[in-house]
Amino acid sequence: MPVRMDEYFRFPTGAGIGGLTLSAAFKAMGLDQKLEINIYEASSQISEIGAGIGFWPRAWSIFQNLGLEEDLSKIVERPPNLDNPQTVFHVRKADQSEGLNIREIVSIGGTTWMHRASLQDVLVKNSNSPIHLSHRLVSVDESDSEVTLHFENGKMAKCDFVVGMDGIKSAVRKHLLTKRGLPKSPSMEPVCSGYVTYRALISKEALRKIFPGHRALDTFVIYSGKWRHFVSYPLSANGMINFAALTADLSTEGAAYDGPTIVPCPLEEIEALFTKWEDEVKAMVALIEKPTRWVIRTVPPMDCYGLGRVVIGGDAAHATTPFLGNGAGRAVEDAYILANLFSEGLHGTGNISLPKISEIYSAICCPAGNRLIEQSRRAGRILEMVPPDFQTAEEGDAIIPPEKLFHHFGLYETELGTLKKGQAEEDKERALQMLRDLH
Ligand SMILES: Cc1cc2nc3c(=O)[nH]c(=O)nc-3n(C[C@H](O)[C@H](O)[C@H](O)COP(=O)(O)OP(=O)(O)OC[C@H]3O[C@@H](n4cnc5c(N)ncnc54)[C@H](O)[C@@H]3O)c2cc1C
Repeated sequence: MPVRMDEYFRFPTGAGIGGLTLSAAFKAMGLDQKLEINIYEASSQISEIGAGIGFWPRAWSIFQNLGLEEDLSKIVERPPNLDNPQTVFHVRKADQSEGLNIREIVSIGGTTWMHRASLQDVLVKNSNSPIHLSHRLVSVDESDSEVTLHFENGKMAKCDFVVGMDGIKSAVRKHLLTKRGLPKSPSMEPVCSGYVTYRALISKEALRKIFPGHRALDTFVIYSGKWRHFVSYPLSANGMINFAALTADLSTEGAAYDGPTIVPCPLEEIEALFTKWEDEVKAMVALIEKPTRWVIRTVPPMDCYGLGRVVIGGDAAHATTPFLGNGAGRAVEDAYILANLFSEGLHGTGNISLPKISEIYSAICCPAGNRLIEQSRRAGRILEMVPPDFQTAEEGDAIIPPEKLFHHFGLYETELGTLKKGQAEEDKERALQMLRDLH
């Protein structure tokens, strides 16, 4: 179905980091002047849950290309230095009475942290699309010439192309799988990842009082132990330390779960996880304020992200475990590649085939999404210290030689090697070349 894009385009998505980046990318590329883009958002307001979010150079350089760097630089914890090695985390083996410094995790460019809600504000400010709140998409109908969206509030919208960036429970993913004759696909519904995370904030002042000189006051630390670890990093904006602990319960891996993702939990539940850990961990845990427990769910890998007039991206396509901290980065990249394909169509030939765009987008982004899922699984096994040769080690003991631990955590650095600046450009160029080869 070739179409002249400047005559014909109505384009919906969701209002998470993926959807808002897509909208900002369309604006940055001048597509918003020619195409009508609408954001339909289930919630009654745009709100991101959780405190911080980090981006590796791979995604940050996309923000740069979209002209967002100046605004983002005002909200980051530390400005990125994309070309130089940066210490990302100090790793400690902490599940023993006296913890042990293992190594620094270093990567080129490091990770750039910011507050999620502030990021959202920047993306909204740099977008030009109407956001329709309280519009929960429930189903999608397609004809040869258009797509109809049905919302829970009884409203309908017609469009030419749908970008489902509607999160882990994506209605658009369900439509795509059904349309492909795969209503029983394991990717239809999210499943338990086998991990639970506890998230909270800790007051720096309170920690300084009970534990002067605590390393978490001014450094990014991964406190690692057998089958669980936590990440802590100081937030300059509000005098707090962000605390995110991940613990495995692999008996639930792959199981269905339809309960709430986030629930408040008693502090004792977290304390019970760290009874065998070093004192500096216990000091932090004792000061946790308003802890919450998150059930981490994932979407089993898909083999296609788009068909005809429908594509999916972000968590809708590849919700994964957070061990590499790149789920949103991947959503940003999906948005960037898709926007570039449309920009090439609009500013290049002026004629475009929507199914071809879907096909090329899927050919580039689907393998990349699946690589992230696999990479994140490996990164989790590293952080949770469960390689085969650590099998005899138990929580609370100190029998693994430090040099083995040093080598083991170095594997995490290897995983970060794929998140360098410029790597998204290679995928973008491959996508654009595939589009040009059609003419
Ligand atoms: C503990 C944890 C830490 C993480 N840390 C990082 C990190 O440091 N760096 C990183 O890159 N990633 C991180 N991630 C992953 C990241 O949070 C997600 O990958 C990212 O937020 C996904 O963005 P999205 O836009 O695809 O989906 P979402 O953020 O889920 O947005 C989807 C939007 O669509 C809306 N929606 C849902 N259903 C419908 C519907 N039916 N109709 C209309 N609208 C709908 C939702 O309300 C939402 O606004 C982390 C994840 C977790 C769990």
